[in-house]
Amino acid sequence: MIIDCHGHYTTAPEPHQEFRRQQLAHFDDPSLSTPRAARISDDQIRDSIETNQLRLQRERGADLTIFSPRASAMAHHLGDSKVSQQWSGYCNDLIARVTGLYPENFIGVCQLPQSPGVSIIDSITELERCVTELGFIGCNLNPDPSGGHWTARPLIDHDWYPLYEKMVELDVPAMIHVSGSCNANFHATGAHYINADTTAFMQFLQGDLFKDFPSLRFIIPHGGGAVPYHWGRYRGLADMLQQPSLAEHVMKNVFFDTCVYHQPGINLLFEVIDIENILFGSEMVGAVRGIDPETGHYFDDTRRYVEALNLSDEDRYKVYEGNARRVYPRLDLALRAQDQ
Ligand SMILES: [Zn+2]
Repeated sequence: MIIDCHGHYTTAPEPHQEFRRQQLAHFDDPSLSTPRAARISDDQIRDSIETNQLRLQRERGADLTIFSPRASAMAHHLGDSKVSQQWSGYCNDLIARVTGLYPENFIGVCQLPQSPGVSIIDSITELERCVTELGFIGCNLNPDPSGGHWTARPLIDHDWYPLYEKMVELDVPAMIHVSGSCNANFHATGAHYINADTTAFMQFLQGDLFKDFPSLRFIIPHGGGAVPYHWGRYRGLADMLQQPSLAEHVMKNVFFDTCVYHQPGINLLFEVIDIENILFGSEMVGAVRGIDPETGHYFDDTRRYVEALNLSDEDRYKVYEGNARRVYPRLDLALRAQDQ
C-alpha cells in the first residue's frame, strides 16, 4: 500500500474558519459576543474531502493519508494559550470526524495548543487526548510558536523534555512543522517552513537529545529542508563539533518526507539520504497547488517523482509503507487491526 505521511485539512468547511475569525475578533475585543463552536454536518465534511484530498488520493494512487489540521492555520502566535487550547481542540476534533468517516483513507495527527512563552507542558493533555481517545498516531510540533521570531528555546533544550517524555510513553513521533509567519522577512511556505526544517536538523546535530531519548522520533518535512542538498556541510559540522557521525547521532531518530516538488530534488534526496529514513509524502492539498508547465503535472504529485526512480521492490515498500509503519507504531497497529 501507499501511505502519504503528510496531508493537511486545508479544505475544512467554512464554518470552521468562521469560528476562528470570530474567536480572534473576540480575543481582540472582549466586548464582542463569545463565538459558539461551528456546527458542521457530516455532509459538509464529505463534500470538502471527497472533492479534494480523497479525489487526489484516488487519482494519484495513494491508499492512506496521515492527516492533520491545516498547518498555516495553527497560528500559535495569535491569541493566547486559552485561545490556542480551544482552537486546537476544535481542529483536532474535526480531523477525528474525517478519520471516523473514512477510516481506511485517513488517520489522524494532532495540532498542539502551543503558545509563545507558554510551557510545552500545557500541550501534553491534548496530545494524550488525541492519541488515547481519538486514535491519533502522532503530532505536529511547532519549533517556533512565535511565528517567525524564534523566541522559543531550541528543540534540544530541557524546556521541551516533558513533551518528549509523553511522546516516548505514547510511542508517537512528531512532525516538525511551523505555522504561519508574522515576520515579513519570511514567506510562510517558501522561507519559514524550509528554514524551520533546516534549523531543527541543525539543533539535533548540535545537541545530544537522542542520548536522552533513544526512541524519540521526528519527521522533518519538505524533504528535510535544505539538509540533503547541504549534507556535506552537516557531516563536516558534526566532525568539527566533535559529534558522532550523522548516521549514529541523528539519523536513527530523524526521518524526511518526499515533499520535494521536482525530479532533480527527489533524485538528490534518494542519493544522499538512506532509504530507511525516507517516508513518502505529498503535503497535498497544501503549499504548492499548481501545475508545473515543464511537466504538465501537479508540482505536489510526488508519487511521479518517486516512481521515476525505478526503486527495487524492497526499497519501494520501505518508502511507501514500511518506514511509515516503523516510525508510527500506532499506524502499524491500526492497519493490523484492519488486516493490512
Ligand atoms: Zn505540512
